Amino acid sequence: MLGTSGSPTVENGYVTMTGARERPGWSVRTRILAVIIVITGAALALAGGVAYLTQRAGILADVDDRLHARVESARAAVTGATTAEPGETAVPVAPGTASPASTATAIEWIMQRVVPGPHESALALVDSRPAYLPPVEIAFHLEDDPALVSRIAAEVSDDTVRIGTSISPVLGHLRYIAAPVAVGGDPSVGVYITAVDVPATLSELDTAFRTYAWLALGATALVGAVGWFVAGRLLRPLRTLREATSRITVSDISERIPVTGADDISQLTQTVNGMFDRLEGSISAQKRLLDDVRHELKTPITIIRGHLELLDPHDTDEVAYTRTLSIGELDRMAGLVDRIELLAEVPEDRPRLEQTPIAALTGDVHRKASVMPGHDWVLAESADVVANIDPRRITQAWLQLADNAAKYSPAGSPIRIGSTRRDNTVECWVSDEGAGIPAGSEERIFERFGRVDTGRGIAGSGLGLPIVKAIAETHGGRVSLASSSAGSTFSIVLPLPTNTAPERDPENP
Ligand code: ADP
Repeated sequence: MLGTSGSPTVENGYVTMTGARERPGWSVRTRILAVIIVITGAALALAGGVAYLTQRAGILADVDDRLHARVESARAAVTGATTAEPGETAVPVAPGTASPASTATAIEWIMQRVVPGPHESALALVDSRPAYLPPVEIAFHLEDDPALVSRIAAEVSDDTVRIGTSISPVLGHLRYIAAPVAVGGDPSVGVYITAVDVPATLSELDTAFRTYAWLALGATALVGAVGWFVAGRLLRPLRTLREATSRITVSDISERIPVTGADDISQLTQTVNGMFDRLEGSISAQKRLLDDVRHELKTPITIIRGHLELLDPHDTDEVAYTRTLSIGELDRMAGLVDRIELLAEVPEDRPRLEQTPIAALTGDVHRKASVMPGHDWVLAESADVVANIDPRRITQAWLQLADNAAKYSPAGSPIRIGSTRRDNTVECWVSDEGAGIPAGSEERIFERFGRVDTGRGIAGSGLGLPIVKAIAETHGGRVSLASSSAGSTFSIVLPLPTNTAPERDPENP
């Protein structure tokens, strides 16, 4: 997966990110796999490691027990006693028992009767010199390392049994026990040594754990492979989503991503599709607006250009006429640009809603409209409701309807302004006695630049009603029209909160 940062730009119709270029990173699938492998590997290694160390400690304790048992056997061999004496003393031969005659004999008895086990060796010294070997096959020969033998002999010179570990360059890692042997009356000193080859004793355990390590590795690889496959399947919809979104461009935004299943990813797909719907709507609205604006601006430009081209600069009357005409056209263009700005702004600009008494607003709009000359402005009725609206925007839309009524109805005719509650809506209306809207044009006049030729040459931009409609829609409302040859009533229909009750007169409920 590639990461991007920086600001988006549109290139050849594609939305791309600039700034830091795409930098390679780990895909989600790889990260999931890495986590699975690390956790599985760590769990197996921990379990194996703890089991190995516990078993190793047990085997080493067994080795020590075995060595002590050998000394006990040695003691029994020469004395017939079966229990150890406290304090790990030498293997004494108690005076008065059927005992060997000399230290050498005692040593000989021991070597004949105490048989070393597997991975074990024994050696008997008499006066610090190797004197006897067991009469059986032994795993290794202690006398091969004379330095070790003399070190052990020195260790037991104080007549105590010694157990120890040695890392011998010749014999490797050994655990040994040494017991001095003495027979009363014999001046010579014997030492019985028995040792265990530690790596050989642990070899079985090591082999078992090497097998375990391979199996654990295989299991981790298997879990990884299954994880890779499952993660791939789970993430496939995301990949499809990414591929589809990267295919969708500003110039072709009509493609939608197929929604499969009913999980989080399909919800995400629906959200993305919804986003593309809104984006497509906004892009096509912008395109339409641009087309309309281009079309509308072309006419005044052509008129001004045509007149300037044919203008005789010496004809003062013609100059004055062209000047007036050009200023008129330019003013129309300026008005057009202002209204386009307003039209673009209304849907973007969130209405600043406040609880507004509609009756007061009706009176306010009526007062403002009354300054428009040439008509008799009548305040017809006022709805006693409070609506949650942006009074500034609604006043603007309402006055636009009043302005249209003034423009499109005969001079001197009355224009009625009022507001009426109807179920859960309130209608803010303007009613005139003009010629009305020709049948079939009711929809078109609410479209941008949608004008009806009244044959009376009234100037206009065709943007007034679309602005009214946009303002009504930002309030969740709509516009409605009732028109006949006797006049038109334009209404802004606004929703009321469902629990809004008409304001009652406390004296006359
Ligand atoms: P403009 O008035 O600038 O042309 P509008 O969008 O306000 O643009 O109105 C669009 C068209 O609707 C007008 O050109 C006119 O033909 C028609 N119209 C609007 N209001 C009235 C009205 N009160 N009576 C008759 N026709 C109207």
